[in-house]
Amino acid sequence: MKLGSFFSVFFGCMILIGCSGQSTEPAPISENKKQSLNRGISQASTNVGSVSIHNYYLPPKYSYPRTNQVTHVMIHFISNAVQKPQNPYNVEDVYRIFLTYGVSANYMIGRNGEIYRLVSEDRVAFHAGKGMLPGFPEYQNKMNEYSIGIEMLAIGTRDEMLSIMPEKTYGLISPANIGYTDAQYYSLNRLLNEIIKRHPTIQRNRKHIVGHNEYAPDRKKNPGKLFDWSRINISQPYTVKPGDTLWNISKKFGVSIQAIIKYNNLNPNTYLKVGQKLIIPQ
Ligand SMILES: [Zn+2]
Repeated sequence: MKLGSFFSVFFGCMILIGCSGQSTEPAPISENKKQSLNRGISQASTNVGSVSIHNYYLPPKYSYPRTNQVTHVMIHFISNAVQKPQNPYNVEDVYRIFLTYGVSANYMIGRNGEIYRLVSEDRVAFHAGKGMLPGFPEYQNKMNEYSIGIEMLAIGTRDEMLSIMPEKTYGLISPANIGYTDAQYYSLNRLLNEIIKRHPTIQRNRKHIVGHNEYAPDRKKNPGKLFDWSRINISQPYTVKPGDTLWNISKKFGVSIQAIIKYNNLNPNTYLKVGQKLIIPQ
C-alpha cells in the first residue's frame, strides 16, 4: 500500500494532535484513574441504563483538563477498514490508531453497542480539529473544548470512503459492516441521556448534537449519510408499523416503554394500531 493512502485512512475521521493545537500539559491524575490508564479494557465500571461502559483510557497526553462548559456532543465514525477491510472493527486495532496519530475521543461505541470510555468527560479530547460550526462562530477551531466526542465504529458509503481508501478495498468490506447497527443507536441514546444529565448546557437538538462533517465539511464526511439522526434526536413523530409493539419501539429508540406511554397518554392495556401516530420522547 502506498504510504499516502495508508496515511489518509486514519485521517478519514480524526485529525493530528498538531492540527488542533493542543499541547497543554495534562493535569495530575488521581490514583484511581492512574490504574485505569494502564493498557487494556477494564471491567465495566459504570452502567448506563442497561448498557455498561468499559474504561479503555488513552494515555493522558491524548487529552487535557477541561475548563469550559460543555455545550455540544460531536458524533464521528472510525474503523480500521483500510488496513483490514475484512475485519475493520477490532477494538484494539482502532485503539492503536488513536495512539499512533495522537488523536482521541471521549467515547467509542462498538458494533454490539458496547461503550468504551477513552477520555473522561472532564478532559478535552482531540477529535474535532479545525472547523466552524454554523451558529457558533466563537467556537471556531476550538470545538474540542466545548464538546464531548463520540466515535462510532462504522463505515460510510462508497462515495464517502473513496477519499480515504481505494475502491478495491471498499469492495472487500462486508455489507453488514457498512453503516450503523441498532445496538449502536440504542447505546448512543443511553449514553446521550447520561451525558446530558451531567451537562444540562447540552440541549438535545441538532444544534448541539452535531456531526464532524457539519463542523469541518471540507475535510470530513463522518458520521455521514448512513447515520440516521432521527434515531437520536429530540422528540420525534413515529407512525406505528405492522408488527410494532411498545417493546420493539422502545428498543429501537432507546427510550423506556413507560416514557412512551406517559408522553403519548396511552392506555398500557390496549394494543397499538397500525398507522397510529406517536411522539417518541428522548
Ligand atoms: Zn470525525
